[in-house]
Amino acid sequence: MSKRLLLFGPPGVGKGTHSRRLAVDFGIPHVATGDMFREAISTGTALGVRAAAHMNGGRLVPDDIAVAILEERLGKADAQRGFLLDGFPRTVPQAERLERRLEAEGARVDAVVSLDAPEDLLVTRLCDRVTCSGCSASFNLASRPPKVAGRCDACGSELVARSDDEVVTVRQRLAAYHAKTEPVLAFFGGRGWPVRTVWSVGGLDEVYARVKQAAEAG
Ligand code: AMP
Repeated sequence: MSKRLLLFGPPGVGKGTHSRRLAVDFGIPHVATGDMFREAISTGTALGVRAAAHMNGGRLVPDDIAVAILEERLGKADAQRGFLLDGFPRTVPQAERLERRLEAEGARVDAVVSLDAPEDLLVTRLCDRVTCSGCSASFNLASRPPKVAGRCDACGSELVARSDDEVVTVRQRLAAYHAKTEPVLAFFGGRGWPVRTVWSVGGLDEVYARVKQAAEAG
């Protein structure tokens, strides 16, 4: 299926969890800039070194780096017929770059699924979150623990707390979201990109059903 989808929303709202599943269901690549930065950091590339200082401080990585990593990924063969962007664009200049790229290809965004939840819940979710060091799947120690403590249900790799999921950093990430990322919603609206808001509170399957419906409507 050819679809170009964006999963949008604040940290902790469930973008990663739902977009992984959605990408499988639609048969399109899951393109998550945060995952790509963590990979670049763990392999020690120059881009990873530049990104790390910003990520660890709860700040956004500068636009030129985020755009570069995204452009390289979207240039790959598997992204030619569609993709699901998770965590991009996070600023208006990033959205403008994406718009130019799509225009040049004669393509359009089929749907922006904008996830939302109360801020207190986001903070709790992030502070209770553990992430798989192998496949990046997320678990929640309070509400959705792994079957075997410390191990990923999907691939068996070790689960770790992300360094930016510590409470002070979480607050900074939320502040960055309100200052720089939230205005992107107005950009989408102004361009007529189809934004569908999904309330990301409730059981995982229940929320996913809403996400899928919103994406299919595109
Ligand atoms: P995520 O895994 O989506 O929560 O992203 C983790 C961190 O990576 C963010 O807090 C940012 O520091 C950085 N990051 C991911 N995507 C972007 C982006 N599109 N623009 C700037 N920074 C980003």
